[in-house]
Amino acid sequence: MMLILIFALGAIIGSFLNVVILRTHSGAVSWLKGRSHCMYCHHRLEWYDLVPILSFVSLRGQCRYCSKAISWQYALVEASTGLLFVLVYTFSIGTMTLDVPTGDALLMLVRNLLVVCVMVILFVYDFRWQLIPDRFTLPAILFFLIFNSFLYTSAVICNPATALCYTIAGWTNYVLGAILGGGFFLIQYVISKGKWIGGGDIRLGVLMGVILGLSGTAIALFVSYMVGALWGMSLILAGKKKMGSAIPFGTFLSIGTVIVLLWLPQITGLIQYYLLV
Ligand SMILES: [Zn+2]
Repeated sequence: MMLILIFALGAIIGSFLNVVILRTHSGAVSWLKGRSHCMYCHHRLEWYDLVPILSFVSLRGQCRYCSKAISWQYALVEASTGLLFVLVYTFSIGTMTLDVPTGDALLMLVRNLLVVCVMVILFVYDFRWQLIPDRFTLPAILFFLIFNSFLYTSAVICNPATALCYTIAGWTNYVLGAILGGGFFLIQYVISKGKWIGGGDIRLGVLMGVILGLSGTAIALFVSYMVGALWGMSLILAGKKKMGSAIPFGTFLSIGTVIVLLWLPQITGLIQYYLLV
């Protein structure tokens, strides 16, 4: 029952994220002001046209007033956000609370849900328009850096080569993560003179750093490249894209960030297992 509520909450927030994404792209002044209209006939939409997922299904993907097809994006974003909320809730309650006091566990759950919201926005935006807007990344960088520095006052960093571990201040961990994530793309940006990646990827790298910390960012970059490589290969195998054609990389970075956010302990365990074997 709890999971259904969490899914519904995620779907409602996903519906709001759709509004944020579209209104930002169309240059609207406010995310909150103004009623929703059909994109084609401009008919004002009633509350029963705006129920996440259910309206889309009951209308069979068409506008009630002009019967034009509604973009799959709306229902997909609503369903994915709902699903991600359920995953974050399950994993935050399940594995992460063990070493964190209860009050902090709640804060961590809230933080993880916020990360999901930001990543959904960046994923859709980069996928549709090959853009990672500073309007989202810059405030998010500041917010998560401060939030995480308060939430985690210290961090343990281990050197995989020597297996020596050090305790450092929490904020140092996130600043180091930001330097790694941002620097990784800054170097590529400088070498390729901005051809391989855009400036938005650098900011997204910094954002990953302040969300995941140093080792989390390193693993997330690796996971993002794996997901990107798998996606690229499946496209080539399906004969849809030629080698080297552009796939917006920010989409993979946002996927990698969410994967590491959810399963960092499991992934770290896997890596250690294979390093030991
Ligand atoms: Zn319409």
